[in-house]
Amino acid sequence: MVEYRKLPGWKKINPYTRAEIILVSEGVKPGATSGDFNEELLISTLERLDIYHTEPERIESKGKVKITVTYAKLKSDFDAVTYEEGKGVEKHDVDEGHRALGKFYGYPKCCVDQYVEDKKNSRTSRFVEKMKELIEKEGEYPEELEYLVPSMTPCDPKCPDTLKTLRTWKETLEKHDPDAAKALRRFNKKWLEEYLEKNLSK
Ligand SMILES: [Zn+2]
Repeated sequence: MVEYRKLPGWKKINPYTRAEIILVSEGVKPGATSGDFNEELLISTLERLDIYHTEPERIESKGKVKITVTYAKLKSDFDAVTYEEGKGVEKHDVDEGHRALGKFYGYPKCCVDQYVEDKKNSRTSRFVEKMKELIEKEGEYPEELEYLVPSMTPCDPKCPDTLKTLRTWKETLEKHDPDAAKALRRFNKKWLEEYLEKNLSK
C-alpha cells in the first residue's frame, strides 16, 4: 500500500489535486488533469508513483495563466487522449474529444453523452434541471455527490453509475487521505448548498 502522506511535499499539493492523484494511482479513475501552482512538485510526485504525464501546459484564460498536467496510470489510457508529444485531445473532433476525455476521466458514459448533448444545444445542463426537481421533491441530494471532482457533470443527481463511481472514490480517498476527502467534500458542499438555496428561493 502506498503511504501517500510520506511522499516528499505531499501536504504542499492542494487537496483536490491530491484526491485526483490518489484515484488515478489506486486505479479507480483512469486519468486526470490537474492545475497546481507548483508543477515541479506535482510532476515529481507523479513520477514517484509511476504515473504517465504530459509536460506542463500553459492555459491562458481571462488574463490568468494556469499550468495543467494531464496524467494516467496506464499508458494505453494516456495515449488515447494525448499526442505522441504529449499534448491535448485536438486529434478528435469536438464531440469525440469530449467523449474521449470523459472516458479518460472515468465519468460514466451516460453522463458524458448528456454533457455532449447539452453543449451541442447550448442548453442548461440536464443535471441542473434534475437537481432542481429533486430538491423540490425531496429536499436533499445524495451524499455521494460531495465526492464529485470539479469537472464532472452527472446526467442526473441520482444517476446509478455516478453514485456507484463516487462511492468507490469516497472509500478510496477516506482510506488514503482523509484530509483530501474532507476538503473535496467541503468544496462540493459549498456549491451544492449555494445552488440549492438559489433554486429554492426562485
Ligand atoms: Zn449518468
